[in-house]
Amino acid sequence: QAKDDGRNTTRFFTREMKAKLQQNKEILTDLAESLTQDHFELYYQPLFTIDHKTLVGAEALIRWHHPDKGMIPPDKFIAVAEQSGLINELGDWVLAQACRDIKNFVNAGILDIKVAINISPVQFKRKDFLQQMLLILAQHDVSANCIELEITEGAVMDNVDQAIDMMQALHDAGFQLAMDDFGTGYSSLSYLKRFPIQKVKIDRSFISDLENDDDNKSITTAIIQMSHSLGLDVLAEGVETKAQLQYLQGEKCDFVQGYYTGRPMPASQFIETFKRAKDTSLAERAGMVSSI
Ligand code: C2E
Ligand code: MG
Ligand code: MG
Ligand code: MG
Repeated sequence: QAKDDGRNTTRFFTREMKAKLQQNKEILTDLAESLTQDHFELYYQPLFTIDHKTLVGAEALIRWHHPDKGMIPPDKFIAVAEQSGLINELGDWVLAQACRDIKNFVNAGILDIKVAINISPVQFKRKDFLQQMLLILAQHDVSANCIELEITEGAVMDNVDQAIDMMQALHDAGFQLAMDDFGTGYSSLSYLKRFPIQKVKIDRSFISDLENDDDNKSITTAIIQMSHSLGLDVLAEGVETKAQLQYLQGEKCDFVQGYYTGRPMPASQFIETFKRAKDTSLAERAGMVSSI
């Protein structure tokens, strides 16, 4: 009897795993196909100062327009792309597309923001990662100063020394560096001291029930205070309510991102929302003066 159960269990898992493998294989084939056909798009979510008055940046978030299945969110395909190595090509596309979008932002008068790009641990661990980033920037004539790279604890923890060297080289090349999803990984706050980063992004899971969860309040406050004492800026992700924003303001968090202050949107909509009226008044006045 026990033996039968065991065999059934084995068969069950095998079937499940087979189906999963098959599904991943299909995603991978479709991903590769979509890369050649430009079926991806970057959405941009605004990043603000904590008073919600000044736009300081935009996080680029990839969207896949699958020809049959419609829009597929990154959580459904990034892991598959990482397992196969296709994430490297996808990552190259993301940076190239961000460069094209940055030019349109600048043309619309949105000059003084940084575009934040998510970097997979797989990309980050490549020896030629920095070179590859710089090559793409050069091809598009965009400066590294326009870009903030978001890395996760998973990218840095299995070889801390090597990761620190890479972070330092990236920063020396002009990139800003942010630790994304902070608090969900294995690194302790004490590691932050060694990382040449400029910003910590508190993971959304601590923010989402900030009003009702005293533990998350304590954790959030601790991350803000520790980061500040190390000279780092702090951004809170996933802010959805006024109460959450007010708590973060009270704790002197520096920046905010979330549905409450702005959802991710297509680049064209981002431009429509944040374009800056060109100051023609000076030119007009100059014209008037000379015509008198
Ligand atoms: P992330 O980098 O932590 O990005 C923030 C995620 O939180 C985004 O999900 C965003 O839409 C979502 N979000 C923002 N504000 C709120 C909020 O107030 N409430 C809720 N419920 N969600 C909010 P998205 O776009 O689905 O991306 C999920 C993850 O996929 C990202 O998490 C990032 O890890 C990864 N990802 C996205 N784009 C890229 C990319 O171009 N390359 C790589 N390697 N990963 C990416
Ligand atoms: Mg991110
Ligand atoms: Mg994040
Ligand atoms: Mg997150």
